[in-house]
Amino acid sequence: MPEGDTVWRTARQLHRALSKAPLVRCDLRVPKLATVDLTGREVLETSARGKHVLTRFEGGLTLHSHLRMEGAWRVYAPGRRWSGGPGHQIRAVLATGAHSAVGYRLPVLELLRTADEDRAVGHLGPDLLGPDWDEAKALSRLLADPARPVAEALLDQRNLAGIGNVYAAELCFLVGVTPWLPVGEVPSPERLTALAKKLLEVNRARTLRVTTGDVRAGRNLWVYGRAGKPCPRCGTTVRTWVPGPSSTRRVAYWCPGCQTGPPPPSA
Ligand SMILES: [Zn+2]
Repeated sequence: MPEGDTVWRTARQLHRALSKAPLVRCDLRVPKLATVDLTGREVLETSARGKHVLTRFEGGLTLHSHLRMEGAWRVYAPGRRWSGGPGHQIRAVLATGAHSAVGYRLPVLELLRTADEDRAVGHLGPDLLGPDWDEAKALSRLLADPARPVAEALLDQRNLAGIGNVYAAELCFLVGVTPWLPVGEVPSPERLTALAKKLLEVNRARTLRVTTGDVRAGRNLWVYGRAGKPCPRCGTTVRTWVPGPSSTRRVAYWCPGCQTGPPPPSA
């Protein structure tokens, strides 16, 4: 799943490409929206809220999209080949005179009144990259269920919005706990929120996500995706845990040398 920084960057690309111009093409290829035509309306702005993308149009309408695992928005100049996937995967085309934004494989695409955006994003906790970031509120939501495994609590967008699998794994490494330690037992939970915010902020302008401070590919992350390789800090072999097919849990990575806490649940 894209992390909040990826979604933030996507929203910024859409914002730069489409804002302050009227749509010359609007093609929404989902059954519910097949008859919707926003051509002629000015695009006001696009912003990210957690991992949700909100594109606002004059007349008080918002197009809400969510990328989940598979979706992507791509921006093209006129005449450029649309390269984000085969045509049947296109769910949305929004074009101004200057750019076309093409939404591929978007699992969520809906049109809302801008005044009703909370129906789509009102459940989210404080947004790590949003203007409403509220660290105290995020912490109290994170700790509301102290027995919950820390990675699971971090991934719950109702607690704080923007963390996906990569940051969940890296944050657990950085505070030295396994993903299964009850969040209430994390020695300094305020470090989790502070680090999460810092990492998303420094990475939102980058395409290579870096948590180690080393921008070289392959050295940019501590544990995520590094199963079987030596931990960059202590040399212990990084381990991974893959949940069963029916589980809602996510794949995890950890270094048994650097992280203390319970092992993964047995399969
Ligand atoms: Zn280690």
